[in-house]
Amino acid sequence: MRDKIIVGNWKMNNDNKNTEELLTKLKSYPIPINVRTLVAPSFTQLSQCVKKLEKSKLNVAAQNMNAEDSGAYTGEISAGMLKGIGVTTVILGHSERRSLFHETDFILEKKVNTALKEEMEIIFCFGEKLPERNSNKHFEVVTQQLKKSLFSFPKTAWRKINLAYEPVWAIGTGETASPGQAQEMHNHIRKLIAENYDQETADCVSILYGGSVKPSNAQDIFKGPDVDGGLIGGASLNADDFMAIVNAF
Ligand code: PEP
Repeated sequence: MRDKIIVGNWKMNNDNKNTEELLTKLKSYPIPINVRTLVAPSFTQLSQCVKKLEKSKLNVAAQNMNAEDSGAYTGEISAGMLKGIGVTTVILGHSERRSLFHETDFILEKKVNTALKEEMEIIFCFGEKLPERNSNKHFEVVTQQLKKSLFSFPKTAWRKINLAYEPVWAIGTGETASPGQAQEMHNHIRKLIAENYDQETADCVSILYGGSVKPSNAQDIFKGPDVDGGLIGGASLNADDFMAIVNAF
């Protein structure tokens, strides 16, 4: 009905040498047939990853892209450029893009629009900050993030959209949402999609969890019936850890 997906977000890590070593190790592992597995390197390592993973079951995603097709946007990369090197999946809205690079819900809606126009697959990230959770506003914050960036698109768009719920307080902190907290939020998200579209659409969307997933907690987190995989930061830099997570379903 919907895919199980694990994505390794390498962030600004891994030069050519590290990439070569990590991919060689990753390729030595069998990948379970029921889990789509992707790595998301920096822009400069995308081509290297595409070539090295050509005949493997691992796929490649970009960590970001610009909403514009071309023009005076120094330092930016377009969807067309990604597709030109064989990358058809992109992570959008990561909390580091939102907080460090000031990406708003409105900017992200534009990026999603471009990705859809270019028929790219999207891994759309969102999640509440710690004060928002502590003041019990987490459901409302997540609802607004999804409404503002995604719910203007037609039902057909959801064939290309995967979601990644990443509570900001759990990213790179070592603190993880409990399996109950993750399932509760994922269930809320699926209900929202059903309310705004329909149940069939909601049932087909893969909703990943991200935030300090490790081999030691992956299995418990993935037990949630609405948790369809993970967006993995730190642990994706180690082949053994990443593959333990891929095999945790
Ligand atoms: C991330 O970068 O999306 C992430 C979840 O990081 P970490 O697994 O290190 O918390």
